[in-house]
Amino acid sequence: MFCNKCGEKLADDAKFCTKCGTKINNEPKMGSIVFRRIGQLYGAVAPINVFVDGMQVASIGTNQEVRVPLSIGAHQVSFNYWCGNNNQNIFYLTNQNPNIRITVKLGYGVITSDPKIVNVENI
Ligand SMILES: [Zn+2]
Repeated sequence: MFCNKCGEKLADDAKFCTKCGTKINNEPKMGSIVFRRIGQLYGAVAPINVFVDGMQVASIGTNQEVRVPLSIGAHQVSFNYWCGNNNQNIFYLTNQNPNIRITVKLGYGVITSDPKIVNVENI
C-alpha cells in the first residue's frame, strides 16, 4: 500500500506514513454478497441458514433475498437447510460482479453444504 498524501510505499498494516506522518486509514474495505433463494417449493420447507466464516449471517425463507455486508477478500460460505426437493436452490453474487453465481442443490433433511470460497471484490 502507498501513502495517499506523499506516495511513500508502506507496510500493509502501517498506521502512519513513515515519510510524512499522515495517518493511514486501513480499515477493511467493505463489499457485500446477495443471497437469494429461488425455485419451486413443496414439501416441508424451513428457512435456510447461511454461514460465512463459520458464523450464521442470515436465515432466508422462500423467494427472499438478503444482502450481507462483508469485508473485501475471500470468505468461506456454507448453508444449512431443510427442504423438499432438488429443484430448489440458492445462489449468491457479489454486487460488484453479477456474473459470479453458485447454485446449491438441496435435498431432504438437515444438511450442511460443502463450504465454498467466495471472493468479495472491490468495486
Ligand atoms: Zn506520506
